[in-house]
Amino acid sequence: EYTIEQVKALVRDYPDFPKKGILFRDIFPIFLNPPALNCLLNHMVDVSVSFAQKLDNHRINAVVGLDARGFLFGPTLALKLNAKFVPIRKSGKLPGSLVKTTYEKEYGSDTVEIQADSILPTDNVLIVDDLLATGGTCKAAETLISKLGATVVLSLFVIELTDLKGKELLSSPTHSIIEY
Ligand code: 5GP
Repeated sequence: EYTIEQVKALVRDYPDFPKKGILFRDIFPIFLNPPALNCLLNHMVDVSVSFAQKLDNHRINAVVGLDARGFLFGPTLALKLNAKFVPIRKSGKLPGSLVKTTYEKEYGSDTVEIQADSILPTDNVLIVDDLLATGGTCKAAETLISKLGATVVLSLFVIELTDLKGKELLSSPTHSIIEY
């Protein structure tokens, strides 16, 4: 049995990755350790359920995972919440009718997309990603979900880099499990 404190200790720091000056936080050591991953996922379910209690119907029915490491957590979380899983992807990856938005990054801009029929206006949506930095990625996800008329109940992150104040950019309630 793992505690969430032990899970935190598994995150590994890589200075100057992927470029000089960036301290990369690697979550993959957690995936090498099944009891640790189980602890983290159960904790994410507990947090999600407690936010869902604030809703009229007490239910999150859509989990939106962000490309790419949000996909590592989204489907499992969705299954455990009995919710659908919906991906938001970088442009050019999803087929069919799409809703898109473009956001500015440190160098250049990025376009992200969601399948237009994947979210209904009545959906209570949880956004999940591995890490919140400046908040630009999650804000773009909020924009897409709001274009589809739905509400973001919670944006949930495994890690938050608090110095970058990403939360201030977001309109949805947020929760992060590990803060640096
Ligand atoms: P933001 O848009 O909030 O500035 O950046 C968040 C996105 O960048 C997330 O999708 C996340 O996966 C990725 N990211 C940025 N820095 C790191 C890092 O140090 N570790 C990991 N695992 N992901 C990062």
